[in-house]
Amino acid sequence: MRKKLLIVKKFGGTSLATIDKIKKAANIVKKEVSLGNKVIVIVSAIGKTTDKLQSLINKISLNNDEKEIDSILSSGEQASSGLMALALKNIKINARSFLGWQIPIFTNTSYGKAKILDINSEVLKKEIKKGITPVIAGFQGISNEFRISTIGRGGSDTTAVAIASKLSADRCDIHTDVDGVFTADPRWVKKAKKIDQLTYDEMLEMASVGAQVLEPRSVSLAKNNNVALWVKSSSKNVKGTKIHNSIKIEKRNVSGIVFSKNDSKITLLGIPDKPGVAAKIFGSLADKDINVDMIVQNISSDGKYSDLTFTISEADLFKAKKCINQIKNEIKIKNVLPDNNVAKISIVGIGMRTNAGIAEDMFKALGQKKINIDLISTSEIKISVLISRRNLKKAINILHKTYDLE
Ligand code: ADP
Ligand code: ASP
Ligand code: MG
Repeated sequence: MRKKLLIVKKFGGTSLATIDKIKKAANIVKKEVSLGNKVIVIVSAIGKTTDKLQSLINKISLNNDEKEIDSILSSGEQASSGLMALALKNIKINARSFLGWQIPIFTNTSYGKAKILDINSEVLKKEIKKGITPVIAGFQGISNEFRISTIGRGGSDTTAVAIASKLSADRCDIHTDVDGVFTADPRWVKKAKKIDQLTYDEMLEMASVGAQVLEPRSVSLAKNNNVALWVKSSSKNVKGTKIHNSIKIEKRNVSGIVFSKNDSKITLLGIPDKPGVAAKIFGSLADKDINVDMIVQNISSDGKYSDLTFTISEADLFKAKKCINQIKNEIKIKNVLPDNNVAKISIVGIGMRTNAGIAEDMFKALGQKKINIDLISTSEIKISVLISRRNLKKAINILHKTYDLE
């Protein structure tokens, strides 16, 4: 007899945007249940609900009351979990909705970007044993202050992986509006192709540098707990992308091209070149919780001054400018030049570990198209460059071709 599986299935916002789509998602769950498998469903808020809730908050809140904000932001998933449970019941699947606190999913008190600390598996196990399909509101939990917390935008991917890990599920399927992970964002590259399998490390790099399809924390959680992770379509019955530990690789140097338009660049000109200055600059940014990504420093020919360029998230630009202006006079920085018109483009692939010349091909291809590179950063399996935003589309498409991904 075939082994009965426990499967976690997560449906994203676009996959639940209409009642028809919710019904379609419910049928995917039913198919699995009909095979004798147990399913736990995780849902995001329908469509762009969370964005709409955030814009309501922006209109009323000047005081950044993070606990109330989380209470509001988490409400989208309350509606979608109930709707999905109804849709399942309508097709004779015995389902029940759960909010984070009803399980509970315990988080710390970093509201807005809370970390999941623990999940109580008892309630879910009992329900599953009774033949009930739990439908869990993603993206939310409860803190030890008994307040609702949210775990960061796109966080229901992480809820799904965390539940799969806690219940030792056989599989965690992330259903979305594309057929799987592609060689580049299919909205930007018409010839992008679905990738059959990726290692956790490749997916983690892709997610971290901007491939929206999976939230980066969900991938590291899956890697650390060896969760069998899939990205699948929520409308078509096609094989998705499997993300796992090791792949007997065909000769694949670059697996995907990823971009991000959410970065800003700041250049500090004429900084006295002496020990402790970089620590002061980056320390003061870190104190304000501003993450710095790429960094480059140039020393003047007389060795007395340096120029420092770094990138941060565009959302932090205002905060970062304020922070630098506070230390500008003390450190004697001559000039501060912020630039929003940048984009980061990255190539990712485990083949880079063993194959030389991949960076050279990237720089050559961009150079031939007269695309200037501002900054470069690398990891073992990734090369990122910062370019002007207006060149982004051209750059993605040329790199997609350069590495034979089409
Ligand atoms: P969901 O609402 O299901 O969470 P998201 O919008 O978060 O969906 O993620 C799916 C989107 O990610 C796709 O519509 C696609 O445009 C985008 N995307 C970006 N890069 C990639 C990639 N390399 N492969 C697949 N999708 C990608
Ligand atoms: N609804 C939340 C968001 O839009 C969580 C998610 O979609 O994963 O960020
Ligand atoms: Mg998402």
